Amino acid sequence: MKNPEATTAALLYSPEAPSDEQRKRFEDFLTRTYPDRTITLTWKKDASLKGGFRLEVGSDVYDWSLQGRMEQLRRKIEALDVRQDVLPLMRQTVTSWEPSTRPEEIGTVLTVADDIATISGLQDAVYGEVLEFGNGIRGMVQELRPDELCCVLFGDNSGIEAGDPVRRTGKLAGMPVGDAFLGRVVDALGQPIDGGDAIQADAYYPIERPAPGIIDRQPVNKPMETGLLAIDALFPIGRGQRELIIGDRQTGKTAVALDTILNQKGKNVVCIYVAIGQKASSVALLTENLRRRGALDYCIVVNASASDSASLQYIAPYAGCSLGEYFMHQGRDVLIVYDDLSKHAIAYRALSLLLERSPGREAYPGDVFYLHSRLLERSAHLSDEKGGGSMTALPIIETQAGDVSAYIPTNVISITDGQLFLESNLFFSGQRPAVNVGLSVSRVGGDAQTKAMKKAAGAMRLDLAQYREMEVFTQFSSDLDETTKRQLTYGQGLMRLLRQKQYNPLSQHEQVITLVAALNHVLETIPVDQIKDVQHEMLAWFEQQDMALCQRIDSTGLLTDDDRQNIIDQARTFVNEYQKKGQ
Ligand code: ATP
Ligand code: MG
Repeated sequence: MKNPEATTAALLYSPEAPSDEQRKRFEDFLTRTYPDRTITLTWKKDASLKGGFRLEVGSDVYDWSLQGRMEQLRRKIEALDVRQDVLPLMRQTVTSWEPSTRPEEIGTVLTVADDIATISGLQDAVYGEVLEFGNGIRGMVQELRPDELCCVLFGDNSGIEAGDPVRRTGKLAGMPVGDAFLGRVVDALGQPIDGGDAIQADAYYPIERPAPGIIDRQPVNKPMETGLLAIDALFPIGRGQRELIIGDRQTGKTAVALDTILNQKGKNVVCIYVAIGQKASSVALLTENLRRRGALDYCIVVNASASDSASLQYIAPYAGCSLGEYFMHQGRDVLIVYDDLSKHAIAYRALSLLLERSPGREAYPGDVFYLHSRLLERSAHLSDEKGGGSMTALPIIETQAGDVSAYIPTNVISITDGQLFLESNLFFSGQRPAVNVGLSVSRVGGDAQTKAMKKAAGAMRLDLAQYREMEVFTQFSSDLDETTKRQLTYGQGLMRLLRQKQYNPLSQHEQVITLVAALNHVLETIPVDQIKDVQHEMLAWFEQQDMALCQRIDSTGLLTDDDRQNIIDQARTFVNEYQKKGQ
């Protein structure tokens, strides 16, 4: 039975007007396909189709046009797995390709506001799928509702209006990945933003992937040296670990991450810096810094700056993580910095509120924990069967007035394997890097520390803890006995040695020599304000006197008892000479 109310307009597009016979055939097709509807067929000229016909009936589209078939073939080729040899695959795809006239699913924009569009008519679209709008802007399905879906837009929404058509792409949101990304600055979709050429990708990875399972992992057992004495000696980080850098604004968080990246020079580690919601100028400065110091070649910068849409800021860390996984799966070691996840959570909160999800604590949606846990779980040290690659993550969180008990900081603290707590007071008193020795921790890195560092740094944490306690007790007492005074100066000296200028990472032997000399009280007689100068001179002196010792420590990661004694003796000689010179 035809329903006379259900009159539908069918639009037929072609470069040339159809002949009467062709028209008759289309009308027959429509009667056969839509037996319960009255359909009026209207022809419209469309030269862009290059040949053939395109028929639109409501939200169904039948494409018999040359342009449409070429497009189908292009998508098929795009979907090829390019990690394999491409030519035979391509030959096979082309020869076995049959143009399909299945109705394409075309949806319609219902509303568009901020970064969100609601769409009707795409019943089969899946969560995370990329949709394409008429003007070429892309978006990602973020919420499925019974009769509509919500899509976050990756670009400017000004060209999109209610009623515009939307096409499924059948692809999950992803990131092109490949070796050619090294040395480049890209946006959250993998497009270069450094003014350079287009980047040749080797594969296309979905941005969301399950984290490696337990069987595919092995314990963290290799060091990821930061070059910062305060961290490598006290809170060592291992490859595959997730160590949070947390602190108020302007406490040197980025500086710690940047120094760690610089310290990977020549160590065959791929470094990825993901900037989220930062000023484009800060990211440009950091990139320039990396370039000037010859580190950009082994780095990739992924930038979703403050002026980018919340959706790009939301996907940026996942996109960076996919890039890292590409290298990790090749058995390489990766260091990834997420700077910072507070802004990431804020971008996600903005999206969630626009999607009308109910706000919870501090207006964040209920799944904000999962936002970061599923990202950080993807860092791993893969088993040898899986190639043995690793991805070490340094997420950064900004606190307000040192409050680590706020919602997002506590979440991320519980997800990571330790945190480096940077403190404003320390930073302003000149103790930089401003690592709070009492509140920082590294839960798995101890196993990853080299034997040399472990042996050299042995008693340091205890000595510092004693110093801190004594400092509190003796704060207000004026006359101290000689032993207490000596212990206080010793502690102050140690704290002073933990200070380190930016861009001056210390190599392993430099750290070992410093620690052995200091912890064996060799530097005790040096006034605290001279101790950094003495350290530098002493290290230079060691390299001149006993290069073999330095190289032995660096290459073997071991510190024999002889070498240890050797360092103590030579350091004593040096200090004696230094003091004689000064008199
Ligand atoms: P923001 O909250 O703005 O992101 P941040 O915590 O990342 O700040 P940085 O930008 O790393 O802090 O550092 C703040 C300033 O302190 C910079 O000018 C940096 O050069 C300086 N700084 C950081 N670490 C050191 C250091 N070890 N020695 C000297 N200066 C440092
Ligand atoms: Mg910063």
